[in-house]
Amino acid sequence: MSFASQNFSPEIVKALTECGYEKLTPVQQKAIPLARRGHDILANAQTGTGKTAAFALPIVQNILDKPKSSNRHQARAVILAPTRELAAQIAQNIQDYTKYTELKTVAIYGGAKMSSQEKALENGVDILVATPGRLIEHLELKNVSLVNLEFLVFDEADRMLDMGFISAIEKIMSGVTTKPQTMLFSATFSTQMNTLAGQILRQPKRIAISRENVTAETVAHVVYPVEQERKRELLSELIGRKNWKQVLVFVNYKETANELVKELKLDGIKAVLCHGDKAQSARRRALDEFKEGKARVMIATDVAARGLDIQNLPHVVNFDMPFLAEDYVHRIGRTGRAGQKGHAVSFVNREEELTLQQVETLIGQRIYRKELEGYEPKNRDALLDKMHSKSAFKNRKSRMNNPSDSNQGEAERRSRLYRMIRAKNK
Ligand code: AMP
Repeated sequence: MSFASQNFSPEIVKALTECGYEKLTPVQQKAIPLARRGHDILANAQTGTGKTAAFALPIVQNILDKPKSSNRHQARAVILAPTRELAAQIAQNIQDYTKYTELKTVAIYGGAKMSSQEKALENGVDILVATPGRLIEHLELKNVSLVNLEFLVFDEADRMLDMGFISAIEKIMSGVTTKPQTMLFSATFSTQMNTLAGQILRQPKRIAISRENVTAETVAHVVYPVEQERKRELLSELIGRKNWKQVLVFVNYKETANELVKELKLDGIKAVLCHGDKAQSARRRALDEFKEGKARVMIATDVAARGLDIQNLPHVVNFDMPFLAEDYVHRIGRTGRAGQKGHAVSFVNREEELTLQQVETLIGQRIYRKELEGYEPKNRDALLDKMHSKSAFKNRKSRMNNPSDSNQGEAERRSRLYRMIRAKNK
């Protein structure tokens, strides 16, 4: 299905062609026609599926179709996102789609100067992309108004709830008196999310992009079983031996990231860091260096890398397996995007074998195990035998991280634990 066949204006189609978009991705095929008809949408879709264009293009086209000479401080659309990186990226995408139109898109987020954002808002705004806290600040200062709001999007809504934005969202919603068309995108669903969706959406159309679609056939998954203390060497070895040019490496702790960057340096491999201890500007610089190929490796923690768009990334490495199987899907969403070929490599020590099995269940696929000579862990067979015993299987079932898990108490306990770990890791 082409963009031209979706009744988008020629200037939009031209810009999309320049972005390299030819055909609609599955989430776009489902969401765009419904959103163009004015429906509220509740979508289950991850980063990497093309969800930004799925919600942004219908808004852009609807605004173009109904031009209004409203007050320039009155945003017609608001897109809420959990992190500044994601907000900046969404705004950039929309600016790319609308470069041949007069539409004005502004991003406002914390960690950046109020004054430059005030200036941008003074020039007028049609589409506002914002993190919740900073939006409230600008609303209170009357730098922007929502009195004529027609479209509202919650992107990565699960992360917004995880990051404690619920009261900010409620505050924003209490000031919205129009009935905007509302779309909510989330990778996971919880009781709290369903409550929020029930409050803000009116007869939403539901869209689900299956995990099979996310972990596309274009991604080759490989696991290297390895002892924890040999992981650093293995990474250097693989990068050198296979001549990987651009590698995003995920770790669970910022300390691991700091150590790893030093280790790689010793091997002459330039790596940059993206974790919560780094200032916003440093993270941005790291990302730019990585994108431009000045650094071969970027080492990131989940929270800091959340939503970062790095196009056509060839390799993603799970140096540590994530705490939650679902984060595997988030992480490798950075590779094999929108039809490109991708390579997802995971280093798995003994303790991480259970997580690996959860990941395999979640993505419905067994992952190929590759042993590199000299790095094979000892006594792995004995461990696997133990894991496949009846009692281990029972234990595993109760630990499954399945959103439809009927064991709600357990799911909530895990979610609390995960939030604690993330807060610690920020
Ligand atoms: P998103 O899930 O919105 O972060 O998008 C993931 C990546 O896919 C981004 O780099 C987009 O620019 C790209 N993308 C989105 N839609 C398409 C499309 N229809 N064709 C090709 N690339 C796309």
